[in-house]
Amino acid sequence: MMPESRDVRDLYQDMILEHSKRPENFYRLPDANRKAEGFNPLCGDHFTIFLKFDNDTVTDISFEGSGCAISKASASMMTARLKGKSKSEAQQLFAQFQRLVTNQTNKADDETALGKLVVFSGVCEFPVRVKCAILAWHAMMSALDQTSAAVSTE
Ligand code: ZN
Repeated sequence: MMPESRDVRDLYQDMILEHSKRPENFYRLPDANRKAEGFNPLCGDHFTIFLKFDNDTVTDISFEGSGCAISKASASMMTARLKGKSKSEAQQLFAQFQRLVTNQTNKADDETALGKLVVFSGVCEFPVRVKCAILAWHAMMSALDQTSAAVSTE
């Protein structure tokens, strides 16, 4: 992991820290029918996303792996947000989250849809950390499209 500067620590809001310490859905989903790996070589974040996808619905989702607090919290909160969503809803949330962390968001609409995920809005000021925040989302999209190869943020 990268050394953490004071500026980066300032990013770590309570919710991000909480999710990184006690992530939700942090286990290998035993009956997953789709999975994908994500690797961020800049930081060393490496996660596998497990999906149970039936009848156009993410009926269950989990993740395993290791990474910095932002990448782990993002994966945790993403899994909590996506459970029960259709593929198109998941794709829409991915697009909204991507706009949020790259500061291209139409804030009102996207922030309503993203809910608690807006805690990552400060990440846009730290380009290196954007890759940490978006990593699990890229892996999730890869799993949804069932391209089984590992994804990289590079
Ligand atoms: Zn990271």
